[in-house]
Amino acid sequence: MGHEQILFCNDPHTGLKAIIAIHNTVLGPALGGTRMWMYASEQEALTDVLRLSRGMTYKAAISGLNLGGGKAVIIGDARKMKNEALMRRFGAFVDSLGGKYITAEDVGMTTKDMEYIHMETEHVVGIPQTLGGGGDPSPVTAYGVYMGMKAAAKQIYGTDQLDGKRVLVQGAGNVGGYLIDHLVEEGAKVLVNDIFEDKLKNITNKYAHVEVVPSEKVMDLDMDIYAPCALGATLNDETIPRLKCAIVAGAANNQLAVEKVHGQQLVDRGIVYAPDFLINAGGLINCYSELEGYNQERALQQAEQIFETTTAVLNEAASSGKPTFEIANQMAERRIEDIAQIHRSL
Ligand code: NAD
Repeated sequence: MGHEQILFCNDPHTGLKAIIAIHNTVLGPALGGTRMWMYASEQEALTDVLRLSRGMTYKAAISGLNLGGGKAVIIGDARKMKNEALMRRFGAFVDSLGGKYITAEDVGMTTKDMEYIHMETEHVVGIPQTLGGGGDPSPVTAYGVYMGMKAAAKQIYGTDQLDGKRVLVQGAGNVGGYLIDHLVEEGAKVLVNDIFEDKLKNITNKYAHVEVVPSEKVMDLDMDIYAPCALGATLNDETIPRLKCAIVAGAANNQLAVEKVHGQQLVDRGIVYAPDFLINAGGLINCYSELEGYNQERALQQAEQIFETTTAVLNEAASSGKPTFEIANQMAERRIEDIAQIHRSL
């Protein structure tokens, strides 16, 4: 996949086994979260970290950030293996890269873990606001998704106004909740689905008119916009033929089960897909802002740019007939190549 550097971290004393993958640093230091997971083998962990770090390169590049792509995985059971020493040892490994890799929170990690890592290295973002960090990135992520959704609406309906549009938000978690705030405020007809009753209650207690949709009905629902904000791979062979919507725009990562196959299937069905890694980049933008001294207003302004970028991607996709994810990938690659060219000629 063209990675620049892979660091295998091994510490018998704490039992730490981790892999840090730096995919590309042409645009800037490689930023990406650390995931702790019970991988079945080191090979499986390696495959995951290679794939995830490459994804970060594209996300940063398409978002116009001066960041490269990286990611780390810690192999082990997050509920049993964690302790201060293990996290600080991992922090020391991050520090040994001298800022070429900047870490953040991902699956299996907590704010407390990030605090331990921070004790050994400055190269960490996503720390609590009380420690000078950016805190929860979800409001910025949700705002970016909302911008991407509006750009898609503009292309389909000729206006970015969402009032009266039926929007299904699947996953009423952190991002889904903030997204619903924007949609309700604009007068969209919001429908919501989640597997947990308490998450749905949080929404309906706040907005009595938001309609709850049972999970088995989600894919057959009459809606204008489908916003996946829970898990990945919800766009697949089984669901795409059933979808009754004009737009897919949500926060979940890796929404297309198989990029090439399902990106094309959406084109064939005439459904506009706002690429996930483009419109959910608000979280990364929030981290980036932390590097410059955190300012949420500035992060939100930067997330607003997602409207313009999505518009450019959708226009190029419409005129070329290619899937939107492919255009977004090409734009990211073009930016990296252009900047690399500038650096080469210096
Ligand atoms: P979250 O855990 O707060 O929310 C996810 C919600 O989805 C939960 O309420 C959960 O109950 C629900 N859910 C899980 N499985 C479901 C299913 N099968 N059907 C319906 N609902 C289901 O997570 P989040 O931070 O809101 O993130 C949502 C998605 O966006 C994730 O895929 C995440 O990777 C992605 N994302 C988040 C951010 C961020 O800033 N938080 C940034 C980029 C991408």
